[in-house]
Amino acid sequence: MSSTKYIFVTGGVTSSLGKGIIAASLAKLLQSQNFKVTIQKFDPYINVDPGTLNPYEHGECYVTDDGAETDLDLGHYERFLNVNTSQANNVTTGLIYQSVIEKERKGEFLGKTVQVIPHITNEIKDRMRLLGNSGDYDIIITEIGGTVGDIESLPYIESVRQMIWDLGKENTLVIHLTLIPFLSASGELKTKPTQHSVKTLMESGISADIIVCRTEHELSEDLREKLALFCNVKREAVIQSIDVDTIYDVPLKMLEEGLDTVVLQRLRLKPKQNHDLKPWNAFLERVRNPKNFIKIGLVGKYVELQDSYKSILESLIHAGAENETEIYVESLHSEYLESKNLNEKLENLDGLIVAPGFGERGIEGKIMAISYARINNVPFLGICLGMQMAVIEYARNKVGLMNANSTEMVSDCKYPVIDLMESQKSIKNKGGTMRLGSWDCNLIPNTKSAIAYQKSRINERHRHRYEFNNKFSDQIFDQDFIISGINPETGLVEIIEYNNHPWFVGVQFHPEYKSTVLDPHPLFKAFIKASLEKNLKA
Ligand code: GLN
Repeated sequence: MSSTKYIFVTGGVTSSLGKGIIAASLAKLLQSQNFKVTIQKFDPYINVDPGTLNPYEHGECYVTDDGAETDLDLGHYERFLNVNTSQANNVTTGLIYQSVIEKERKGEFLGKTVQVIPHITNEIKDRMRLLGNSGDYDIIITEIGGTVGDIESLPYIESVRQMIWDLGKENTLVIHLTLIPFLSASGELKTKPTQHSVKTLMESGISADIIVCRTEHELSEDLREKLALFCNVKREAVIQSIDVDTIYDVPLKMLEEGLDTVVLQRLRLKPKQNHDLKPWNAFLERVRNPKNFIKIGLVGKYVELQDSYKSILESLIHAGAENETEIYVESLHSEYLESKNLNEKLENLDGLIVAPGFGERGIEGKIMAISYARINNVPFLGICLGMQMAVIEYARNKVGLMNANSTEMVSDCKYPVIDLMESQKSIKNKGGTMRLGSWDCNLIPNTKSAIAYQKSRINERHRHRYEFNNKFSDQIFDQDFIISGINPETGLVEIIEYNNHPWFVGVQFHPEYKSTVLDPHPLFKAFIKASLEKNLKA
């Protein structure tokens, strides 16, 4: 039997308590004691992956190197642990059912009636064990999405119960994350919802080993004892998770609370070394003591929901720390940018990002913002759709191709400077069919990109269907507007730059998916550096 230990993280009382951050923080503490850890997330919805979800539904769709479109929690895992995740790290109910139904069609169940138990639960358990079976990890943390008691998470909870039964108590552990609400009228923290949610878990045959309590106020000793008694856990297994200014503080809060110590004792593991959190602490030190302050505009059409651009916001924090700079992000809704309010909205910004996106809504606002940044020397980073819009802006306003557009927006436009990739033309299905995952890119020496990366060959993650239309290369690119990155196999334009400017770069890929705490992304670092220089000059 494998010696891998399994930790399951469930949630109670309400959603959005930050299971992903708790899981990532625990993983960080275990990793800092030299354990090999990975995290996987099981989501109870029926979409096969979140790629087809609107960001308003579920926040950003994160993309891995191997081209999986995943839950945004995988972004937290990578940013905290500095290790890559993959297709195997995110599983949804849709994916589980799809593979069970495919097996049924192949006749693999030998005439049996296919049922939730055991067929769906077996498929879930196989996926839960997949990374563990590789032998690459000492500990696998499995986060179960949703809230205990939801109808749709029942098969997952049952699978966790079976995993504990299969592998034994000493190889498995359950952490239950709940909320301790504060009633301001009576000035009290209440434990009842937590008691009920632990009870709901018990009704499914699972007793929580550790309770992590999200709270706005310190939990008193009495309250911790009460929770321990009523929830049937040891006193030291009641862990407080109090609100903090930055998510990157959570591992240290969990260390103070002794979360990893309880985990290791319970799993009968000894630390392989003392915690090594030096680089992490150095990063936090820089986040807490910035020397400068700048304002970056983020133009997008989903800006109302913070989670829509999660990885971009986190990449800015990493790059800000590197430049000892605090960054205020001004969210700018692309639909509400108009020529009459443009100056007023953009004049105080030190840098501008135009976000990725799909469809026509808000694109004229994006183009106007790019024009402003180009003409007024505001450092600019265009990501995916943002890069495509930068090409359209230049084509229209500098080259004179009025009505230049992307065929995504106007299918029969006169100058389709951005067009559907050839390989996409025969594709009808929307799910999982974009150009996804990691692809190589050669950098042109001495460009801003090559200087930022200090490399000649990079690979970055992608998620798109459209590309620069190379038929317009001669017309659009000139001494000022250049290609600085290109896919070596296909010639696809990966990076464009405007030279006559302090820092203006557009990328077809998503640098935000690869920025981590210990390895901030070179393009974000260079963009923030240029924005800071602009700020210091003003
Ligand atoms: N909609 C554009 C495309 O499919 C850009 C995608 C994106 O920004 N991720 O090419």
